Amino acid sequence: MESITRSNSLKYECLLFDMDDTLYPLSSGLNLACRKNIEEFMLHFLDIEETEVPKMCLELYREYGTTMAGLKELGYEFDNDKFHGFVHGRLPYDEVLKPDPLLRNLLLSMPQRKIIFTNGDKAHAIRVLSKMGLADCFEGIICFETLNPPQEDTDHNYEDEDPMTTPEKSQGEVVKPRILCKPSLEAMEAAIRIANVDPMKTIFFDDSARNIASGKQAGLHTVIVGTSTLVPGADHALRSIHNIKEAIPHIWEEDGEYPDQVQVIQSNAAELTVVQA
Ligand SMILES: [Mg+2]
Repeated sequence: MESITRSNSLKYECLLFDMDDTLYPLSSGLNLACRKNIEEFMLHFLDIEETEVPKMCLELYREYGTTMAGLKELGYEFDNDKFHGFVHGRLPYDEVLKPDPLLRNLLLSMPQRKIIFTNGDKAHAIRVLSKMGLADCFEGIICFETLNPPQEDTDHNYEDEDPMTTPEKSQGEVVKPRILCKPSLEAMEAAIRIANVDPMKTIFFDDSARNIASGKQAGLHTVIVGTSTLVPGADHALRSIHNIKEAIPHIWEEDGEYPDQVQVIQSNAAELTVVQA
């Protein structure tokens, strides 16, 4: 499936990182706390039947990329900031996230551009990165607000602002009400465009198999994180993000051929228990 012609053509210029459950393990519990908050939001603010909430939450997540996107698609109306404030604003960041100097040193030693690409909102991304001591390791953050500009802000002038964290604006384009998020190919291509990278020279790290499949479809080199099992479209599988150097030493090398075989690296550094949602 993978082309042998990639051997001499890959020279990585950018590393695109998902954040949640990729830079820290799923076992941290943040994911579970997040889902509980989403379910509470559905129950208390959208008046969805309590017995329906857990199943609906999961099904919408699977169908639309995020539960929020699915709720909007079904016609539920709510303020995006209110949703994010309720779902992310109340997460136990202080208890579950700690500084990760090992990852920080790895990131800082990588010569490429490094960009976060998350479905989460900007405030959440900043809090997670700050708690992990990684805020200054990335050039920018492509987040919910980047791909989903508020309706009232479509005429705002963003020229003097950070292109990563401000909404993307297209001249003369009518803003779509649909939420744009991974794993849609449209979202992947938007991120590539915003980051202004050549996908063939970019490595994409994500813990979601469907995001990896979409990333591969968009032409990115891909790494599934959090599992030692390769998934369709993945070039590498990393049990832990801490094993980047063992799996992809080419990141640190000036030039050279890239081996055709994919690699699976087991984590020795950290014992991670992956609990599938
Ligand atoms: Mg993730």
